[in-house]
Amino acid sequence: MSAHVSAPPSLDLLRALPKTDLHVHLDGSLRLSTVRELAARYGLPYDFATDEDVRAVCQVDDKCDSLVDYLKVFDITLQLMQRREDITRIAFELAEDAHRENVRYNSTKPIGASSKSRASQKAEMPPSYQHVTYWKR
Ligand SMILES: [Zn+2]
Repeated sequence: MSAHVSAPPSLDLLRALPKTDLHVHLDGSLRLSTVRELAARYGLPYDFATDEDVRAVCQVDDKCDSLVDYLKVFDITLQLMQRREDITRIAFELAEDAHRENVRYNSTKPIGASSKSRASQKAEMPPSYQHVTYWKR
């Protein structure tokens, strides 16, 4: 008797499959290249010369068992999201990346935690962010 062993799906197949993203945080979805560029512009004290440098500081691996440690990364990305045009850019790039990965529906969560009410947070967000929920037809 022989067992049927399937090959794992290829990356091309996984990319081509339609997907849904129901829980994405904008402040956890910055491109590495955008982190590098904005960190330099904002003068953050990190040496992000390469994408690997950003990964080493901003990417949490699956061995992380502390929510506090996990959320520390957002302290960095939130420092890069202080201007309307930067938030707009990051939201656009997230939608662009989702489109490339054949994500058909993407629901992005508000930026960071705040003591402000959701309504006042939303009122302060640029219109591009308020419409970041994305449908690919
Ligand atoms: Zn969440």
